[in-house]
Amino acid sequence: MPHANQPILPGATLGMLGGGQLGRLFTVAARGMGYRVMVLDPDASSPAGQLADVHLCAEYDDPAAWEQLTQHCAAITTEFENISAEILHTLAKYRPVRPGAEAVAVVQHRVSEKRWLQAQGIATAAFAVIGHADDVAAACSMVGFPAILKVARFGYDGKGQARVANRAEVETAFAEFGGEVCVLEQQITLQCELSVVLGRNVLGQTACFPVAENIHAQGILDMSIVPARISPALADLAQQTALFIAQSLHYCGVLGVEFFVTTEGKLLVNELAPRPHNSGHFTLDACLTSQFELQVRALCNLPLGATAQHTPAVMVNLLGDLWGQSQPNWQVLMQHPYAKLHLYGKIAARSGRKMGHFTCLADTVGDALALAQEIRHALPAMADSFRR
Ligand code: ATP
Ligand code: MG
Repeated sequence: MPHANQPILPGATLGMLGGGQLGRLFTVAARGMGYRVMVLDPDASSPAGQLADVHLCAEYDDPAAWEQLTQHCAAITTEFENISAEILHTLAKYRPVRPGAEAVAVVQHRVSEKRWLQAQGIATAAFAVIGHADDVAAACSMVGFPAILKVARFGYDGKGQARVANRAEVETAFAEFGGEVCVLEQQITLQCELSVVLGRNVLGQTACFPVAENIHAQGILDMSIVPARISPALADLAQQTALFIAQSLHYCGVLGVEFFVTTEGKLLVNELAPRPHNSGHFTLDACLTSQFELQVRALCNLPLGATAQHTPAVMVNLLGDLWGQSQPNWQVLMQHPYAKLHLYGKIAARSGRKMGHFTCLADTVGDALALAQEIRHALPAMADSFRR
């Protein structure tokens, strides 16, 4: 194996575990910089597999696929936190794997993630672990109500979560989740939600994007407004907290840190994502270096590039719900020279499925937001007229 700190230069092949939209956008960035990309994903039509140099269409635990990855790739990364840390650990015996298995193991389980944050002295919402029905009573008296019960593993986009108002509802929800280990979390009255995406390479160099202000609908990210409409002091605190987390985790790669801001103005960490983050998609159009180029640079142990934002931006997610009998009305979006469309190549438009996003750029976030609202209201028009 080459020395761990040696830069990996264009021409080399990079391995990506996972073929979703994040893997796809990584593939575009990496290929644009002259790398080859090998994607492992069992889905034959995966968004990243479509654009990769090589798509290994196999299960994540397929030793023949690992063999291909370790033989051909100079380094390997991932686009989702639910990849088994054991697989990362095994691959790391042969090739650099960034982020490493230890960091991903902490982050992929809500219990270890929250305990780790607490141990670093980082504020989170009050929580208690429920591993068995017998734990419910103590957890309820510790956390109080209203609360949210969350499964500890494999949750995303608000799945595996239930809002609960009393002990009976906790018992029912815990049973509905099949007795899986859960976290009961105090429901925070939110002033707003924020996120910070950053990169860190093996040398410990870091680069941080501006703070995004995130608006969710039905537990799914709907819109990110950047820069966030918050005080410079709060923005600085969010960035410093995210950098401190990356350093304390000895993290290598791109990390997303989600925050809650309480109505009292207190900053709490919600959760960590060991990969580029949906709220960082604005960087594709509004920053010198995108979060995906940053992922390439951190993986390849290159200098991280400038992450400064050149234009205020609002990113809007496009969910499958927008697709009617036909495609949404893209023409209305294309008419605006400062609106940028990104589609992920997904074939089936299911409800709640992230199909793409668009970003609006303007001189102020207020103007970008107004344009984003105008476009989003006009997008379903064509689908509706087809249905009539
Ligand atoms: P994703 O992977 O999309 O970030 P997730 O399934 O991991 O989602 P969370 O980030 O835990 O879920 O929660 C999704 C959203 O639900 C949050 O962004 C927030 O809007 C709301 N939410 C979650 N926990 C709380 C809480 N304790 N108090 C208030 N709102 C919450
Ligand atoms: Mg989240």
